[in-house]
Amino acid sequence: MTAETLLLDYGSGGRASQRLIADLFFKHFDNPLLSAMNDAAILDLQGPVAMSTDSYTVDPLFFPGGDIGSLAVHGTVNDVAMMGAKPKYLSCGFILEEGLSMELLERIVTSMGLAAREAGVLIVTGDTKVVPRGCVDKVFINTTGVGEIIANPAPAGNRANPGDVILVSGTMGDHGLTILSHREGLSFATDIASDSAPLAHMVEKLVYEVGDISVLRDPTRGGLATTLNEIAGQSGTVFKVREADIPVRESVKNGCSFLGLDPLYLANEGKLICIVPQEKAEKALEVIRSLQYGGDAAIIGEVLSAEGGPAKAGQVVMETPLGGHRLLNMLEGEQLPRIC
Ligand code: MG
Repeated sequence: MTAETLLLDYGSGGRASQRLIADLFFKHFDNPLLSAMNDAAILDLQGPVAMSTDSYTVDPLFFPGGDIGSLAVHGTVNDVAMMGAKPKYLSCGFILEEGLSMELLERIVTSMGLAAREAGVLIVTGDTKVVPRGCVDKVFINTTGVGEIIANPAPAGNRANPGDVILVSGTMGDHGLTILSHREGLSFATDIASDSAPLAHMVEKLVYEVGDISVLRDPTRGGLATTLNEIAGQSGTVFKVREADIPVRESVKNGCSFLGLDPLYLANEGKLICIVPQEKAEKALEVIRSLQYGGDAAIIGEVLSAEGGPAKAGQVVMETPLGGHRLLNMLEGEQLPRIC
């Protein structure tokens, strides 16, 4: 590297940006498709393909359990995987602020490379722009992912059927509370960490060992409550969940009550909701629990028909620990900006 901080030249497309690409991106993303250095990567894909894109602006850039680089891989890989797909390729676009420390950028790129390897994807194309100071806050990253659909039929939000069982792959609210508490510098944050993780292997195991999955979705922004409402709405059904069965870490519960937040509305970045026919539920739970990122998985409720049910189509009813019921509504607006 020729400078310790990023200069505008590094995004110019000239010799300085070529050096940045060779010294940094090729080193950490190393694969033959990227290093072919053509205008576009040629992808080898079979059958129907899932594609998803997301931009990452998380503040702070580094947090317990991850950083903007690993998050930019996990977030997009997980959205592709939720279609019953095996993610294979990623693109990445960086928008960088002039004067950014080169050491900090390398930490982020190193983390992206490691996250991509763990998730089994290749970063095959990318772009770097450097903008003048103040035009962007340090680093923004966009990633786009593609993957081959391996499930048949593919899980989809409108496929939740009355009688199906609702599972979550682990504890709720860890990512959202981690980001918020670290941004605010709150002292209780010592024992919480983001759950940011790749779910591609979990999805692959579910598809091959359980099969016939109605819905897969990652409860990211808006949390579990908002995501369940989306799926109930898409499928025209009523969801009933039991509050006592929804896994939430004790430290997250305590932090949320201190801040007046509800963990069911906080973002997760390494968890999925899995909805399966009743006869598949125990198997799905066993498969998820056997995996590194699924140890706290739980069955949390079931899908009911809107006809003669306890609520209207698209609504989520939660049974409280005392046996009462309340509607779990959708999040209104953004609870926390720059959470991912
Ligand atoms: Mg998603």
